[in-house]
Amino acid sequence: MSDELQNDNSLYEIQDYKITVLLVDDQQMIAEAVRRALASEELDFHYCQNPTEAIDMATRLEPTVILQDLVMPELDGLTMVKFFRANPATSQVPIIVLSTKEEPEIKSRAFELGANDYLVKLPDKIELIARIRYHSRAYIGQKQRDEAFEALRQSQRKLAEANKVLERLSSLDGLTGVPNRRRFDQLLHKEWQRAIRHGASISIIMLDIDFFKLFNDTYGHQGGDECLQQVARTLERSVQRETDMVARYGGEEFAAILPETGVRGALAVAEAMRANVEALKIPHENSKITDHVTISVGVATTVPERGSRPEDLIATADEALYEAKNNGRNRVQSAGFRNERPPN
Ligand code: GH3
Ligand code: MG
Ligand code: MG
Repeated sequence: MSDELQNDNSLYEIQDYKITVLLVDDQQMIAEAVRRALASEELDFHYCQNPTEAIDMATRLEPTVILQDLVMPELDGLTMVKFFRANPATSQVPIIVLSTKEEPEIKSRAFELGANDYLVKLPDKIELIARIRYHSRAYIGQKQRDEAFEALRQSQRKLAEANKVLERLSSLDGLTGVPNRRRFDQLLHKEWQRAIRHGASISIIMLDIDFFKLFNDTYGHQGGDECLQQVARTLERSVQRETDMVARYGGEEFAAILPETGVRGALAVAEAMRANVEALKIPHENSKITDHVTISVGVATTVPERGSRPEDLIATADEALYEAKNNGRNRVQSAGFRNERPPN
């Protein structure tokens, strides 16, 4: 399998969160009372006595709920709530403010600034636990939904990427990287229909490496593969137009589609291909015609008519290639123009 499609083993796990409480209060006595109230519960309890350290501590501990005293010497509790909301790591963490008494104005201000709950200290143990559980679970649930959503988004993105790679791989030849026979057939069909609609000419080039069996016998299969790669690159740079396409047709045979190209244009491209491959001067000491790699090329052109089949043009190009072989190889043979109408 291609490197591009290797398994990615990273798993998207939805985390299990433990209820984690952070109490921010300057009075140690309160902390002790809360600790005792929560002692029987399956949760992590942390205490921060110095409010100036609260943000750092919360960022590090990732609490699922914050209990926040409102009256502290160093820092006003309401300002603290504001800080928690402004800090990205704590902006969504539920905050229960702890007040010494019911004060409607402060209460409403606390909610305005983003507090989630308001308790008068010290609350009844059962109520305190119930609120801690309620807010923590809501927060954990939201976090898990966010993670699940993110995991889904990522796997969708990976799937889309893998599909793109697959699509590309399934249309390219593995050895040479040029389009494969499948892609060639698809594109030829498309261009054929387009040529019919526009009354345009279309040319096909079929070519084959000369004495390639002998090349393999002399330089080994790996040497043969490298030769095929070099030839493929050279053929690709021999075509000029965006719409031209070179494909590996099979074995040591390549084919090109030249849309909107008449006999003369196709012959020019075919000759460029032949000359460029010859100019590579890839040694082929056992070739029966020279001492380097050469190709034989067949060209066919037509203006396709409705109901005609591209396979017939391929067959004609193949016949021309056969003639090129028979006439001595390392040459271009044109089948001429297959249609009575002149090319445009
Ligand atoms: P001709 O000039 O008449 O074309 O002679 P030829 O030897 O090239 O023709 P033939 O069809 O007898 O041999 C084609 C050779 O191409 C045989 C086969 O082993 C080789 N071949 C086909 N595909 C590959 C490939 O992917 N890699 C390598 N190394 N060789 C291949
Ligand atoms: Mg050959
Ligand atoms: Mg062959």
